[in-house]
Amino acid sequence: MAGPLPRHLLPLTARIDDATGRLSVGACDLLDLAAEHGTPLFVYDETHLRERCREAVAAFGPGNVSYASKAFLCKAMAALVHEEGLGIDVSTGGELHVALAAGTHPSRIVLHGNNKSVDELRMAIDAGIGRIVVDSDHELDRLEQIGASGTKVLLRVTPGVEAHTHEYVMTGQDDSKFGFGLASGAAAAAVERAQKSSAVELVGIHAHIGSNVFLLDGFTKALEKLQPLVADAGVPELSIGGGLGVAYVEGEETPTFAEWHGVLSRAAADVGITADTLHVEPGRSIAAAAAITLYTVGTIKDLPGIRTYVSVDGGMSDNPRPVLYGSGYEAFLPRATSAERPTTATIVGKHCESGDVLVRDAALPADIAVGDVLATP
Ligand SMILES: *Cc1c(COP(=O)(O)O)cnc(C)c1O
Repeated sequence: MAGPLPRHLLPLTARIDDATGRLSVGACDLLDLAAEHGTPLFVYDETHLRERCREAVAAFGPGNVSYASKAFLCKAMAALVHEEGLGIDVSTGGELHVALAAGTHPSRIVLHGNNKSVDELRMAIDAGIGRIVVDSDHELDRLEQIGASGTKVLLRVTPGVEAHTHEYVMTGQDDSKFGFGLASGAAAAAVERAQKSSAVELVGIHAHIGSNVFLLDGFTKALEKLQPLVADAGVPELSIGGGLGVAYVEGEETPTFAEWHGVLSRAAADVGITADTLHVEPGRSIAAAAAITLYTVGTIKDLPGIRTYVSVDGGMSDNPRPVLYGSGYEAFLPRATSAERPTTATIVGKHCESGDVLVRDAALPADIAVGDVLATP
């Protein structure tokens, strides 16, 4: 039998009304928000987002943090991170468009991606964006073909490190679609090529070992492996990407930005990395815990001896993570936030796919009913 929702999974300004048990975020009652805007609804705590940005900047220093926008992007979010002094990572023309439309200074935008099109590269260069993280020799070919001149780039390198995380969000191992391999010599060859090319100015090395990483030793190993390349390249910038883990369910605990910075800076010093800047690109660790998704329960199907299905009005379309990675979530009812959750049921979406599962074997209050607003942090 599961107890109430662990409070630490809720955003910073979450408050439970003593009299009614109802949950508010940023002084907005969640049931009122659901009534006003409909469901499914993403609710973001602006105070929480800003606080996370500030913690990251305080740990790593101004100018050394870019927000990885794939974690959550809209114009308001791009404007918020810009105001807080972060740069912004984009990896498609669409994301670049949103960042620019939000008024982000182009010099603070970084373009990523393992298959940037000629149009995307042109768009980035025409806009005057700050950095392109070059992922392949074909991309260098394209930059040369389109007549780039002195575009500031970092080279994406796979250091040959397996982060402790889900296979689909591991990106630092030799067998990866991303970047130039370190072990194969591809990275060293790319450094040489980029330094000779007039299309680009090589200013740094980039590595991103994966996402939702809780054990920080993967980052230490990556820095050890990168040291000779960074030293040979003699470049001023080193970006270690994002990846700091986030607690989604009871029992998970995450390192702070200060702890992450401590491990990275000590590891860099230990191996003698001399790059002037240690840049990071946190995504989920800025955005994830600031959010709650609201759904409305539409049907409850009890199959005696088999399983109870609770169907909501969203699913894999608003949250593909359970389907992609088998990610776990907690669920609760914002009308009774502190209620015990003795009932086990599987929360499913409304799409014509049996795989459209949001939370397998969720712990829920016993009185959950059709019409309830159900939430996942
Ligand atoms: C996904 C990604 C990030 C951010 O990862 P998080 O786990 O969300 O912090 C940073 N850099 C690159 C290149 C990425 O692809």
